[in-house]
Amino acid sequence: MANEMNGTVAVESLPVSGLPLETRLFIDNEFVDEHDGTHFDTSDPTNAKVIARVQEAGKDDVDRAVKAASRAFEGWSQSSGAFRAQCLNRLADLMDKHMDQLAEMESLDNGKPLTKAKEIDVPFSLAVYRYYAGWADGKLDGKQIPISAGNASANWLCYQRREPIGVCGQIIPWNFPLAMFSWKVAPAVAAGCTVVIKTSEKTPLTGLMMGHLCKEAGFPPGVINILSGHGPTTGEYIVRHPMVDKVAFTGSVDTAQKVLLAAAQSGMKKVTTELGRKSPLIVCKDADLDQALTVAHEGLFFNAGQSCIASSRVFVDEAIYDKFVEKALKRAKEEKLCSPNSPECTQGPVVDMKQFDRVMNYISLGKQEGATLLTGGTRHGTQGYWIEPTIFTDVKDDMRIAKEEIFGPVMTVLKFKTLEEAIVRANATSYGLGAGICSRDIGRALSVAHKLRAGTIYVNCWNVVKPNTPFGGYKQSGVGRELGEDALDNYLEKKTVIVDLSYEDEKDEKAAGDA
Ligand code: NAD
Repeated sequence: MANEMNGTVAVESLPVSGLPLETRLFIDNEFVDEHDGTHFDTSDPTNAKVIARVQEAGKDDVDRAVKAASRAFEGWSQSSGAFRAQCLNRLADLMDKHMDQLAEMESLDNGKPLTKAKEIDVPFSLAVYRYYAGWADGKLDGKQIPISAGNASANWLCYQRREPIGVCGQIIPWNFPLAMFSWKVAPAVAAGCTVVIKTSEKTPLTGLMMGHLCKEAGFPPGVINILSGHGPTTGEYIVRHPMVDKVAFTGSVDTAQKVLLAAAQSGMKKVTTELGRKSPLIVCKDADLDQALTVAHEGLFFNAGQSCIASSRVFVDEAIYDKFVEKALKRAKEEKLCSPNSPECTQGPVVDMKQFDRVMNYISLGKQEGATLLTGGTRHGTQGYWIEPTIFTDVKDDMRIAKEEIFGPVMTVLKFKTLEEAIVRANATSYGLGAGICSRDIGRALSVAHKLRAGTIYVNCWNVVKPNTPFGGYKQSGVGRELGEDALDNYLEKKTVIVDLSYEDEKDEKAAGDA
């Protein structure tokens, strides 16, 4: 049962206490009502019940947020790196303090196991703020460039400054709401930019909680503005706003195409994109089979398969194929599908009905295309959006389940004869976010790692993502890199300053002559 108060809707059974549940827009350090009465519901994926009715930012609201970010830019971009670092570190401290609440809300809104939200999502996200606090604190320096220009006696000074781009429009997906928020906001504000970030319409609640924390952390008004809303409306208004200087997008390839087009049509804005699709894992016959199985299983089933870098094409050498499949089946059956609040839970539901239908549709397609359904393929339970861990074997490269992103708990296993063949097939895709190899021969593994065309290559591991490890895609899986030092480049312009000092020399010589 929901009750309405002060523009928020609270659900009585909400496990979250302490930080108020907020559903308004966060602009200029205040929660404010949207202009035209538009809202949408966000639901609990375990039972489809509405958690909260959230306000959607319309065109005027986006305009208000962008103008707030623009006003704030002047002061923030000129503020000391030490101050920016202090705000970021305080934000991380506050996330630590509110760890349980953030994790509970992340789990409630997204459906992920609470233990994972506590052990991974929140600690990782706050580590990202700390990491970029370290960069903000005086390390975003430029460089001097030695030049000469024909005349040997000429005296030149040339240096490069790095300056914040300006107002950044940022758009994030729903699979890791807090982590995606941190990947976008932390490097941008560390660099001196201000942001208007739109969370996913499927998971808006932890983003709004971050509004409380950003204010308490001491970020000045307008530096971080947080909007909820749908993509074709709120998202597109942000991308097309003339005062937005840069767009950072994470989501699907199809949406990225629209974002790139809109950004090009509205002032050729700079855009970075983090996308996903079909990351291959090659399991060699000399791999430690148990280790390879863990890599393949965790690589795919983590977050119920809703991971951009999921190891969704597992190529296995024919010599060990049958053994691998046997172990994969046993491991899939060990997954515990139950309430995300239970410490037992290892796999929660997928995020909503749309995602559930999408995954079930791919399962039907896999069966129709002739792949062998080894296990799963059905709904788990009678309510909510759980899908049994599913494995397809005998998958062929041209099947849609091998080519398209399923984004659910569905593993596809493909057989190969030679490593050369596996590399060619692994690379035969328009995408390239991640790839991996399992082998006990490190020389072989590294040789394959260098041949695989993807932004991150995992050797005998998967899902290792740290604040300082650059992350992004080859080919259609993205433009630019997030995390690490590389992400700062997304938010900094480079300015070259060239000074002719010979005039000063001549003046000095003349003065000496006169004297
Ligand atoms: P999506 O593309 O449907 O939506 C992503 C975001 O874009 C949402 O906030 C949505 O509201 C917004 N959006 C939709 N249409 C828009 C438009 N016309 N203009 C502006 N914004 C618009 O993706 P999703 O379903 O939320 O997320 C899943 C996808 O994200 C997968 O493809 C996954 O691989 C990818 N992903 C990539 C990374 C990465 O770092 N590479 C991380 C997480 C997810």
